[in-house]
Amino acid sequence: MKKRVIVPFFISHQGCPHRCVFCDQRAITGSAGTPPSARELLDTVGQWRRSANGEPVEVAFYGGTFTALPREVREGLLAPLQPLLRRGDVCSIRVSTRPDALDEGVVSSLRDFGVGLVELGIQSMDDAVLARAGRGHCAAHSEKAFALLRGAGIRVGAQLMPGLPGDSAAGAVASLRRLLPLRPDLLRIYPAVVLEGTELARLYRTGGYRPLSMDDAVRICKVMLQEAAVAGVPVIRVGLHPGDDLAASGAVLAGPYHPAFRQLAESERWYDLLALVCAPFPEGDELEVSVSPARVSDLAGQKRCNIRRMEAVHPFRVRRILGDASLGRDDLVIRGVSATINVNLVRDLRYNSSMNAIRENA
Ligand code: SF4
Repeated sequence: MKKRVIVPFFISHQGCPHRCVFCDQRAITGSAGTPPSARELLDTVGQWRRSANGEPVEVAFYGGTFTALPREVREGLLAPLQPLLRRGDVCSIRVSTRPDALDEGVVSSLRDFGVGLVELGIQSMDDAVLARAGRGHCAAHSEKAFALLRGAGIRVGAQLMPGLPGDSAAGAVASLRRLLPLRPDLLRIYPAVVLEGTELARLYRTGGYRPLSMDDAVRICKVMLQEAAVAGVPVIRVGLHPGDDLAASGAVLAGPYHPAFRQLAESERWYDLLALVCAPFPEGDELEVSVSPARVSDLAGQKRCNIRRMEAVHPFRVRRILGDASLGRDDLVIRGVSATINVNLVRDLRYNSSMNAIRENA
């Protein structure tokens, strides 16, 4: 899809029937959540358009349960945008909501108001995990929500949250595997972290919840990223956005929060591919490793940790890593004195049921 500028409005917790155990949208978004007035909407969209350099502008309502807002509030947010949609000043609207807050009437109203994408807070496809997270819906609601939105021609995004109470590494991957056949148009993966003031924080303090370690969260997310890539589903976010409020001291009580979490998981995928294919290079060989320029830092890892790990267990040396603009996003070329290897991250890396890397096509 063509690059577009998203104009985000955060309506923290508006429309939510209750507070899910992990959630504090005010800490995550830094917004009190009061829905904007029509004037504020139009002024803000105008400001973003002026700095968009001609790129298409999409308006997004995040952080609450948009479709459970009273109808007049919903329409009060969507109606002022209609002239902009007709003129092409805004190319689309997206909203986030819960899977159980949709029915035929709401979905057809969204379509009539030009909503092109709905992001669903799926979190898990395991009903026991959903119950312990206080979600108040089950996996079947998510499947039904997909069907309703697809039937109306609305694109569907999905959010998953590995590491909730009662979840496991295998369970998190199983949730993704149940979701992928529904063909989400995009995916966000947010490993559960303990935010101050939430029910999860109380459980954590009383010993009723143990968050994922950073290593386990990275291990789970690298597998989820790989499976989504193989299925052709774009993952547009991994890990919470490091906003100012979230970074403030004490906002994150515990759990796998890292401002560059995605890079940690992406680097592990590349390391696993390197480890699979580099073994044949002999002692004393000097390797030149090439990837697309956008992938150099993921491949090298933070402070070149992937290269140091490779050299610690193999007898060769990695002479340099090159960014090669002629390579595809997932291509990897390794040139040694003895051989040259061409592989592809998506095509050549798989994980088995123990979440160990394997190369299916070897
Ligand atoms: S997770 Fe979604 S439904 Fe639950 S409290 Fe947060 S915004 Fe509301």
